[in-house]
Order: sequence, then C-alpha cells, then structure tokens
Amino acid sequence: MSFENFGHTETSDDDCMECGVCWSVYDPVEGDPVWQIPPGTPFSALPEDWRCPNCDAPRPRFMRLGK
Ligand SMILES: [Zn+2]
Repeated sequence: MSFENFGHTETSDDDCMECGVCWSVYDPVEGDPVWQIPPGTPFSALPEDWRCPNCDAPRPRFMRLGK
C-alpha cells in the first residue's frame, strides 16, 4: 500500500508542519500561544496572515512533517 497512489498531497488536519526557514514546528495538538491559536487547530485552519512565530516566515514556507 502506498499513499502516493491516492494522487493528492493535501495535508491532514493532524499533521505537524515544519518551518522551512527556522525548522520550528507547528503542532496542531498544541496550537500556537504566540498567535493565540487554541490547541486542536489544524494548520489548514490557521488565519491567512499567520506567520511563523519564531522567524516570521509566511505559511507557504512550512512543510509537512512525517509522523
Ligand atoms: Zn520559522
């Protein structure tokens, strides 16, 4: 079984996302206290203007972290 066969690369709601600039990780379980994002908020539900709380990188710079 390969997940690649599903033909999409959308992120799952419970995926951790890693900043491509400073390597800090957004964990949806934790939320983001810097941006007052409540725990349990998936990356896809973050505000449009959310940025890396550590280095200010915009959302597209984040990459999905393998579990
Ligand atoms: Zn960063």
